Amino acid sequence: MFNFVIFGPPGSGKGTQSKNIIAKYNLVHLSTGDLLRTEQNTGSELGKQISALIDDGNFVPDEMIQKIFKAFLFENKNSDGFILDGFPRNTKQAAWLDNLLEEMNSEVKFMLALEVDDDELKRRILDRGKISGRPDDQNESIVETRITVYNKQTIPVKEYYENQNKFHSVKGVGKPDEVFANICGIIDKLK
Ligand code: AMP
Repeated sequence: MFNFVIFGPPGSGKGTQSKNIIAKYNLVHLSTGDLLRTEQNTGSELGKQISALIDDGNFVPDEMIQKIFKAFLFENKNSDGFILDGFPRNTKQAAWLDNLLEEMNSEVKFMLALEVDDDELKRRILDRGKISGRPDDQNESIVETRITVYNKQTIPVKEYYENQNKFHSVKGVGKPDEVFANICGIIDKLK
């Protein structure tokens, strides 16, 4: 299995680029944000608990997301590999993921970060909110909360992979095709 983490703040283009990557490299897109929104849309009790947290820009508890993550991973365990989008989002999740993949005789091959500055992020997320209808994309203070939570809890994950010599980054601004070409250059080198 060939697995890597696509990393970057909300609005950095992880979802858009992941769609291109899975088509080219035959990988499964494991987006924890998408999995949570799917559960939200079912209207289940769990979906309601999720809404109460993520609509305000806060994380769901580790145990909750890990359970959902593991179920999706196992359902797709015969695939060629996964592009992990939105997970791990803190260092505890990163350590949990290393253990889980080790049990499956696999690993995270590398982390690839999309670099975009905060002002550009805010602009992109609010633009996306007009189309997506996502509550957490439509309100400036919620968007700011998400960026703050990211800077506090998720940035340390970068160091986690740097310590394993697995961290790589690419400029996330410019034409999407050009960003994709740069991403492919890195994947082809590291694969
Ligand atoms: P995303 O689509 O990746 O921006 O995720 C949307 C929201 O889902 C985030 O703002 C978090 O509230 C929640 N979420 C997604 N992934 C995780 C995770 N790994 N841990 C905790 N919460 C998460």
